[in-house]
Formats: sequence, C-alpha cells, structure tokens
Amino acid sequence: MICSQNEIKYYKDFQLTNFNTLKINSCAKLFYMPDNYGEMISLFKRFKKDTPIVIGAGSNVLFSSLGVDKPIIYTGRLDDIKCSNNIIEVEAGYRTQALSKFALSKKLSGFEFLIGIPAFLGGAVYMNAGAHKQSISDKIVSAKVYDYEENKILTLKKDKLNFSYRHSILSEKPYILLSAKFELEKANYDDIKARMDENLIFRKNRQPNLSLPNAGSVFKNPSNCELSAGALIDKCGFRGYSFGDCQVWENHCNFIINKGNATSVDYTNLIFEIYSKVKEEYNVELSPEIIFIGKKTKDEKEKWKILKS
Ligand SMILES: Cc1cc2nc3c(=O)[nH]c(=O)nc-3n(C[C@H](O)[C@H](O)[C@H](O)COP(=O)(O)OP(=O)(O)OC[C@H]3O[C@@H](n4cnc5c(N)ncnc54)[C@H](O)[C@@H]3O)c2cc1C
Repeated sequence: MICSQNEIKYYKDFQLTNFNTLKINSCAKLFYMPDNYGEMISLFKRFKKDTPIVIGAGSNVLFSSLGVDKPIIYTGRLDDIKCSNNIIEVEAGYRTQALSKFALSKKLSGFEFLIGIPAFLGGAVYMNAGAHKQSISDKIVSAKVYDYEENKILTLKKDKLNFSYRHSILSEKPYILLSAKFELEKANYDDIKARMDENLIFRKNRQPNLSLPNAGSVFKNPSNCELSAGALIDKCGFRGYSFGDCQVWENHCNFIINKGNATSVDYTNLIFEIYSKVKEEYNVELSPEIIFIGKKTKDEKEKWKILKS
C-alpha cells in the first residue's frame, strides 16, 4: 500500500523480493523511498529510537524470511552526479554500472571494475567494493556522510574513511553515505572501453549473472590461507551442494544461487555448514561478506553469532 507522510512516499508491508539480487521473499513493515537527502535525514530524526536501515541495490544483503521490523530507506532516488575536469561527485543512490559508463563517456579511467558490480554507490563505499585490482577506495577523495547520532553532516577525507578489504568506516560508525568525490585519470576512450569489456568477459564464466539470483561472493577470501574461499569450499566437496532452495553454484563455489524459493534459513544453514566443514578440514574460519537484515529465528541467531565472531 502506498502512503504519504509529510509528502515522503512510503509503503506498508512491502515485499522486498525485487529489492535484493538474491530474490529472497521478505517483507518490510515500512519502506521509504526519499527523493532527496533532506527527506532521508528527516526520517532518521523521526525514527530516532528505531534507527532505519539504509539500502542500495540489495546486492550484498540477506533479508530475513521472517521480515524486517525496522523502517527501510531505499536510496535509489538519490542519484545526482556532477563532473568537472577529472573530478566526479556522485550521490549514494547512483548505480555503479552506470557510473562506470559515465566515467567512460568523460574519458576518465578508474571505474572500469564497476561495470560488473550491480550495486549503488552507497553500498559500494560501505563494502569498499573491488575487483580486477581496482577498488572504490583507490580514487576516492572524500565522502559526505550523515551522522545520525549527532545529527550532523560531515565531510571525511579518504584517510578518515578506514578502508580495508571489503570494509569502510560506514560499518563502524553511525554514518550514512550521502555522496562521494572521486579524482579519476584522463585516458583514451578505447583503452577504457577495452578494459571494461575485458572485465565483463572475465566475469561471464566465473560469476552467475542475475538470472540466477545471487548476492555475489559469499565469503571473503581468508587472509591466513593461500587458498581462496571458493577453492576451500570446493575442496570440502560443496560444488553443486544444496540446502533447501540454496545451492553452491556449479561453476564457482563462492557463489550461492537461489533456485526458486530460498529462505534466509536455507542460506544461513548452507553457509554455516560450509563454515563448519572448512574450519574442521583446514582450520580456516571463513567470514561472510553478506549482511543479514531483519528478524532472526533462534537458530539463525546462534549461527550468525558464530559466523560474525
Ligand atoms: C552478480 C554480483 C557480482 C558482484 N561482484 C562484486 C565484485 O566484483 N566486487 C565486490 O566487491 N562486490 C561484488 N558484489 C557484491 C555487491 O555488489 C557489493 O558488495 C556492493 O558493494 C553492495 O552494494 P549495494 O548497493 O547492493 O548495497 P546493499 O546490498 O544494498 O547494502 C550493503 C550494505 O551497505 C549498507 N548501505 C547501503 N547504502 C548505504 C549508504 N548510503 N550509507 C551507509 N550504508 C549503506 C547497507 O545497510 C548494507 O549494510 C557482487 C554482487 C553480485 C550480485
């Protein structure tokens, strides 16, 4: 049901299936789609005690099959972009694949890796998304964030953003990314395009496309092991293995696909089984990349406590 509260459009009991690339059926009690940052900030003020959850393209989240009680704010309408010489300033809801193409159109290099990542900028900064030896942290100059505890907008330079592998300050502090500024390099159009095409070809056989619903890499690559997460999972015999409607992808074991009606319980059980077996066989504790959002069953609570420890 579409509603309007002080002009901000929102939905009650909103189905999230088309707002996560894993296509988990989940329901948000309240789902907001602000048109600008003023609206988003006013929602944080309104729901002070029940802090809203901000989402981008939902390409790295596992929504609970029991639903989400906290208000969800979808950032897809916050998508302004400006370019001056080699500087791009872009809002949190801008699609990363479109950003890669935008940079190409300006003959700017540095975003070629984003062509295969189905995210929004906010999620990409939160996760410090990366691929093909490039990452979002490489070219960032500063980020504008909203501190919802202090009710302040801050501009943080790159060295204050605490970037590391699949990590940024956004997961440490009560910060919401509003926009970010990047300094790219002038380059030849054909060279940039060739790198983007190469990246897409590389992905074609190594990653499921979204016709097989998935949420990208399941686990981070471990820092204390020569083998990648995918290789460890494969060596433990999980290639093609299913739990309910979740299946380890046949072509690359660090992806799990939803065969139809997967639930967060299926996904949690499958990744916990993988985590336990890899720990037992290789003494490596894999850490999930995916972020769980919503209410957990008792069993999910226990398993995620171990997975995130
Ligand atoms: C087919 C496929 C391929 C992928 N390939 C890659 C890859 O090559 N490299 C890679 O790194 N990842 C990859 N991913 C994973 C995913 O795309 C990234 O992790 C991406 O950065 C998530 O962005 P999102 O907009 O979808 O974020 P979401 O999944 O919507 O959210 C992720 C987290 O970010 C938070 N968040 C979102 N927006 C904001 C904001 N504005 N402010 C603060 N917090 C925010 C959310 O609350 C959540 O905790 C892939 C995923 C898929 C499905």
